[in-house]
Amino acid sequence: MDKVCGMTALGLSAALRRRELSAREAALACLARMEEREPQLHAYLTVSRDEALAEADAADRRLAAGEPLSPLDGVPMAVKDNLCTKGVRTTCASRMLEGFVPPYDAEAVSRLGRAGAVLLGKTNLDEFAMGSDTGTSAFGPTANPIDPSRVPGGSSGGSAAAVAAGEALFALGSDTGGSVRQPAALCGVVGLRPTYGRISRYGLVGFGPSLDQVGLVTKDARDCAAVLAATAGFDPHDATSSRQSPGAYLDGIGDGVRGMRAALVRESLAEAEPCVRRELLRAVAKLESLGARVDELSLPFLKDMLPAYHILGSAEASSNLARFDGVRYGFRASGVSDWRQLIRESRSRGFGLEVKRRILLGTFVLTKEQRDAYEKARRLRRKTASSMAAALSYYDFLLLPTSPEVAWKRGEKRDPVAMYRSDLFVVPASIAGLPAVSVPFGEENGLPVGVQLVGRAFGERELLRAACAVEEGRA
Ligand code: GLN
Repeated sequence: MDKVCGMTALGLSAALRRRELSAREAALACLARMEEREPQLHAYLTVSRDEALAEADAADRRLAAGEPLSPLDGVPMAVKDNLCTKGVRTTCASRMLEGFVPPYDAEAVSRLGRAGAVLLGKTNLDEFAMGSDTGTSAFGPTANPIDPSRVPGGSSGGSAAAVAAGEALFALGSDTGGSVRQPAALCGVVGLRPTYGRISRYGLVGFGPSLDQVGLVTKDARDCAAVLAATAGFDPHDATSSRQSPGAYLDGIGDGVRGMRAALVRESLAEAEPCVRRELLRAVAKLESLGARVDELSLPFLKDMLPAYHILGSAEASSNLARFDGVRYGFRASGVSDWRQLIRESRSRGFGLEVKRRILLGTFVLTKEQRDAYEKARRLRRKTASSMAAALSYYDFLLLPTSPEVAWKRGEKRDPVAMYRSDLFVVPASIAGLPAVSVPFGEENGLPVGVQLVGRAFGERELLRAACAVEEGRA
């Protein structure tokens, strides 16, 4: 059964169709892996064992009848705990939502349900997805499966750790400023942030809605294409969802990069640790040997993106999180009579430090006095989006590291600004609304390194084709 945990989602799918094993056995294998590893990893906040086994049995009936719903029918998955799941607790890793059981599924979750994927449970994250190492969770941190003394990255660290440890075959995450790509890189799995609007955000608890996207964590690029095909598409419940029809993401995914043009972002080399730079340059050489042309390109505003991201993201977060006041939503402080005090106490006790820091920063940048700073961040965002789009009118994709460094030891980064810096290379695609994927490529002392490919808006098919070539060339 252990072999299930090492399979890709599509590999398992083929085995299920050949009836070599059942969906129930696959779910049980992941549940057994959890028993073994969860005490150390804490990738899951909630495991829905009984529901999972019932879903797996239903998948087995369809498979036995020769009528699977999709290639993902019967494949066990995990979902980040900021995506609503009907009847399954959804906490955003916050005391604020500790007892919240949503009455509906997020659109991405219901699409996967209709595809037959089996929900095993909900994964840990930084509180309200604010953080880069899954350490701000109110329910305790997640560890990196490769070296549990190290962080898994964040905020979708639970999703990345679960997939890397074989506790699920793929997972959903969310990516506002890199939260799927960065943990994927640190855990050695594939992480995709699709184009803004590609997957519905309906049922994703908002952080910064102009930046938030549902993201995917998978074992390889092919699985990523399969999960994207199951989740992408227009949804009338999300006003920012695109009407453009999804591509045939798996078609031609193995066709390689011959004739493709890529641009290595020059500024990223100086900002990355030597081991990350080395692997990135090795990926460049590999791409060239596979027939792609790689030029260097300068994006001088790269470093300005981080402060711009924090200004815009925190401003949106501060107004978004205003709803959690202990009256309409969330944790309510007891023993207070006055309503002002009720709101103050509920928010003070319900939110953790990092969330409060973002709310304060966001409230500050939205004051009249800070208007210039806010406007400057918005201008920078427009400028980034247009220069990246201009570069991508010529180049098929841009190349950057995903994270400036490999997974660090838990407790090593205490300063929030040092933590924010780990998102340096992932925020530009978020700001520009472009699709970006992190692919494992090489390692340093056994710790995985990820390279990041940023593609054209709605060009996920070509992006994943390039990712697949990088992946196959990594040996
Ligand atoms: N790590 C980034 C932050 O702290 C990104 C978070 C995210 O993408 N949800 O804001």
